[in-house]
Amino acid sequence: MERGICKICEKFFIMIQKGQEMCNSCYEQDVNQYRAVRDYLSENSHATIMDIYFNTKIPMKTLKRYIEEGRIRIIGK
Ligand SMILES: [Zn+2]
Repeated sequence: MERGICKICEKFFIMIQKGQEMCNSCYEQDVNQYRAVRDYLSENSHATIMDIYFNTKIPMKTLKRYIEEGRIRIIGK
């Protein structure tokens, strides 16, 4: 069994999939948070990162990570 260090909470976890970067609890949270951001952006396509932050209450750090990972695109300034 392969073990990894979660890139979110930095704890050891057992990898279920090869190349898995986060533990399962962080993964679940990430899926839910990502869905919330994506839903918000689909209704507010010109939202800024601050708008997303205030409306979804998702940590700024997480939002910035989504942008870095290319998972969301912020059009608004
Ligand atoms: Zn974790």
